[in-house]
Amino acid sequence: MPQIVAIHEGTVPISSSISNAYISFRNMDCSIVAVVSDVIRNGRPVVGYGFHSNGRYSVGEILRRRLIPRLLQAPPEDLLTEDGATFDPARAWAVLMRDEKPGGHGERAVAVGVLDMALFDLVAKLDEKPLYRWLADHHGDGEPDAGVFVYAAGGYYAPGKGERELQDEIKGFLDLGYEVVKIKIGGADLAEDRDRVEAALAVLDGDGSRLAVDANGRFDLDTALRYGEALEPYQLFWYEEPGDPLDFALHATLAERYPGPLATGENLFSLTDARNLLRYAGMRPDRDIIQIDPVLGYGLVEYLRILHLLRRRGWSTRRCIPHGGHQFSLHIAAALKLGGNESYPGEFQPTGGFADSAVVRGSRVGLTDTPGIGFEDKAKLHQVFRDLHS
Ligand code: MG
Repeated sequence: MPQIVAIHEGTVPISSSISNAYISFRNMDCSIVAVVSDVIRNGRPVVGYGFHSNGRYSVGEILRRRLIPRLLQAPPEDLLTEDGATFDPARAWAVLMRDEKPGGHGERAVAVGVLDMALFDLVAKLDEKPLYRWLADHHGDGEPDAGVFVYAAGGYYAPGKGERELQDEIKGFLDLGYEVVKIKIGGADLAEDRDRVEAALAVLDGDGSRLAVDANGRFDLDTALRYGEALEPYQLFWYEEPGDPLDFALHATLAERYPGPLATGENLFSLTDARNLLRYAGMRPDRDIIQIDPVLGYGLVEYLRILHLLRRRGWSTRRCIPHGGHQFSLHIAAALKLGGNESYPGEFQPTGGFADSAVVRGSRVGLTDTPGIGFEDKAKLHQVFRDLHS
């Protein structure tokens, strides 16, 4: 019967000089954990690693004071599968959420996601399978996708960055193998943003289906509609997070007027928020994209519930393209047949991005066969995790 013997927690900076319409990433950081088991392989304990995606600040206080003690103090069998053979992330999730009221899904959801990721890494490592294979066997149809669609999320605002620099950035993404890119809007006025969209399109053969835009929740209804009207002729890949993530009425009104795909969900952190999005935000299953992050919103255990909800409501999992740009979501996308995964080439290091050997071809990327999430294939991040517990 395996047991958790220690959980180490820390914080890494993932700062960057970039900004979107809402925030700068100057002081961004990230919580990381190492969950150490008593199972010894090749002379070393098997350890699960987790971090909290990006875009939210570290959550060490919640981890240290509430969540980690709950896992360490629980009767060991409460964290295991029925037969006691291995850890069960869903049962561990119930332990993490013990004595937590419903609602108020904020930093707590992020903190649960960090440990949830480490537990899935650990379980797949104990089973000696890459996570995408383990997930496909346990929660999918057993046949994971061989590669995952990725798009390059960039086009941030930065000091001194003009249209020429924006175009150079996009050309760089194309050289890396991406065919679809995303740029920010809403950090400038409509006239300037329209110029930025046209500058971007100029290096994408004028093909709007290769360009997404992201307002990061900045707009009120009038502005969202005005931008929608201006963007419509470009027939973009999608128009992302036009208004506040919880303003479902704004979204529903825009969806009535804007015919192209809308994308949202990266700031919705629970099954209930997801249900409300489907109920009230006018989301259209034939074109819209759900970007809920499988880490930020209570981890993969909760994300599996959200996927179940989507299927019951007639949505294809292909309409899910998670926020976050990291290895964990890449496994989930391949195993559960999502539509793809975000990617931020070069940003949010050391946590962001995929295996060091990963190559993007035709906007698709594959996975390695390293057991677990494969952080061992990402040298700088692996070193950060190693430093936590050795
Ligand atoms: Mg976004």
